[in-house]
Amino acid sequence: MAHRTVTAFRAHLGRGGGLIVGLSEQQVRAAIQSHWLSKASNAGWTVRSTEERVPAVGGQVMPFSDGSAIRWACPLCERDHEDQLDEFDEFAKLCFCERGNGQAVLVEWGRHRRPLARLRDSR
Ligand SMILES: [Zn+2]
Repeated sequence: MAHRTVTAFRAHLGRGGGLIVGLSEQQVRAAIQSHWLSKASNAGWTVRSTEERVPAVGGQVMPFSDGSAIRWACPLCERDHEDQLDEFDEFAKLCFCERGNGQAVLVEWGRHRRPLARLRDSR
């Protein structure tokens, strides 16, 4: 399995585990804004960055009417997962597997593609 070392930004709510992971602090802060727990809980969020060596896989971009998602074959559980792409996802995204116990997986796709052009244009 291929691995890469990345700077991972993880957001934690209170004493809970890392609920959000991303490749930039800006991305994680934006995800906190839209996370349903931000309204449901009074606990504060903390964001920390660490160097992490993570499994890396190639993903397939799936365009949807309201944006794009990435489909990837999970190296942890060997199933296919789909994650919504956001405006910060340019070439790669850190994703979680429900069975991964918090282990992040780096999903990469080709630089030549511009799957988010439509998403960006619509904003
Ligand atoms: Zn999985």
